[in-house]
Amino acid sequence: MTRLYEWNPVPHRLAIHCPICRNLAEFEFATYRRIERREHIAYFKANKAFDYRQYIDGCGHKWHAALYYPGLHGPLQSGIHDLPDGYEPQFWAQSHYWCSSPGSGVGSVRCSACHFRSKHRLNWSDDLYFLISYRGHNLWAYDRDSAMALRNFIDSETRSVHQDGYSRFLLHIPSVFKHHKAREPLVKALDKKLCSK
Ligand SMILES: [Zn+2]
Repeated sequence: MTRLYEWNPVPHRLAIHCPICRNLAEFEFATYRRIERREHIAYFKANKAFDYRQYIDGCGHKWHAALYYPGLHGPLQSGIHDLPDGYEPQFWAQSHYWCSSPGSGVGSVRCSACHFRSKHRLNWSDDLYFLISYRGHNLWAYDRDSAMALRNFIDSETRSVHQDGYSRFLLHIPSVFKHHKAREPLVKALDKKLCSK
């Protein structure tokens, strides 16, 4: 497998293979907040809604974080009222797009086919559901809608990137996938993925 080409921003939810049944499942990134005071660590360690993590910054200093899993617990606002002073539930709200964090790739998976729900560390090239290998390169989309936009883009003669919400995504498609010989096998492979559940 080659490395995935990168583009930002990435949405906070991605379509992945269910680790149990391999059907289409939903991965959602965890959110995190720095724990500012040592005396607050015990609270986040004890609260089952959070995962406590310790990280080391570029200068070698330890710092502490509380991770939350909206994909498993829903928005934090709905369930917690005893946070230590200085913390607000919205600190752990999803931003519209995911940005790289210390726990990059940490999140949760939910599968509607087999009802599996768990914390999950994302392995991008192995997990992504809408990923097509072509001549040693990986073409990928983050969910069904973006896979459809990608399919239509590859299939079109004009290759216009002006599709609602996907212009930036389509702008970053490597040229190997836009060669005319790639059209038929890629559209066929994407159609197969889009038709499966
Ligand atoms: Zn499953």
